[in-house]
Amino acid sequence: MKIIGLTGGIGSGKSTLLKFIQQNGIPCFESDKVGKELLDTQLKKDVINSFGSYLYETGKLDRNKLAELVFNDSGALNKLNNIVHPAVGRVFEKFKVEKRDNPIIIKESAILFETGIYKNCDLVILVCAPLEDRILRVIHRDGSNREAVLKRIIKQWDDTKKRPLANFIIENNKLEIAKYQLEEILTKLLIH
Ligand code: ATP
Repeated sequence: MKIIGLTGGIGSGKSTLLKFIQQNGIPCFESDKVGKELLDTQLKKDVINSFGSYLYETGKLDRNKLAELVFNDSGALNKLNNIVHPAVGRVFEKFKVEKRDNPIIIKESAILFETGIYKNCDLVILVCAPLEDRILRVIHRDGSNREAVLKRIIKQWDDTKKRPLANFIIENNKLEIAKYQLEEILTKLLIH
């Protein structure tokens, strides 16, 4: 079984393409989504111990407060990563065992390169899109504003740094063309 990483910056279209992969019956692990779920369940106690209960005033994690806390504090961000990443890793290990009869599984994460997790993947697919398109897509999707989107984008690696590390690159400008590129990649992966 091969582990295929799927990554791309915010608004590049990872989740959109992942749905297409899922429709093809290929098991997909959404790392960021699993991390968010764990923060509301198993990891709640650890987060409260590290950062205080004010982050869970309503019972659920206040993501804005957490983002505010870690945004300009690399120490707090490291602490949070040390809570979340190993826990997501454990869930992924179980997923791998459950799906072991499949020729390929997909591991999706926005920060696959930034975290170094790509080193545990056999191959990596990178989704790219023009910066301005990504900004407009996220504004439209989240009802966010330009400044907030840019702030998140500059925290991630630039595509120029990611491209040389990827095995396959999908240019997600027109969705139909991107889906076609993805289909070609999946066919190659399933043949070899
Ligand atoms: P994030 O890292 O924030 O989760 P993402 O990479 O998963 O982002 P998506 O959520 O898949 O990105 O896409 C962002 C938005 O752009 C969505 O609303 C999606 O429907 C839209 N979108 C994706 N691809 C295209 C495209 N080629 N043309 C127009 N809109 C697109």
